[in-house]
Amino acid sequence: MGYLYDDQNIFAKILRGEIPNTTVLETEHCLAFRDISAQAPEHVLVIPKGPYVCFDHFANTASAEEIVDFTRAIGQVTSALKVDPGTGGDGYRLLANTGKDGVQDVPHLHVHLVAGRPLGRMLRDG
Ligand code: AMP
Repeated sequence: MGYLYDDQNIFAKILRGEIPNTTVLETEHCLAFRDISAQAPEHVLVIPKGPYVCFDHFANTASAEEIVDFTRAIGQVTSALKVDPGTGGDGYRLLANTGKDGVQDVPHLHVHLVAGRPLGRMLRDG
């Protein structure tokens, strides 16, 4: 079964400029903006501009140029937030909630980048 992209999702509206956002970084193929309900001192969502529902949809069908841009954009955001350990930052966590079990609310691929405090271990709620 393939993916059907719903262009009425909230991130599609952000990309069309119909809903405001607090942009951290924009590249040719990506937008990074602050999560409206931050769960850590730094909580940024990085999304591709293309109509991809989730990570596997993107990984399997996006162009190499889009994939490189997305990966580099995440790296650039870690630098902009000064959380990258390579330059002395305290680190961060990347999360891509996907589908029903992953509890994905917005059906447009987004990676959560959270940082700014110790984040604890993963999957405590089992
Ligand atoms: P997920 O559950 O992984 O689909 O996460 C969706 C995320 O989108 C949540 O963390 C929300 O707080 C965030 N969110 C929803 N609407 C907006 C918005 N208008 N601007 C920024 N973040 C949003």
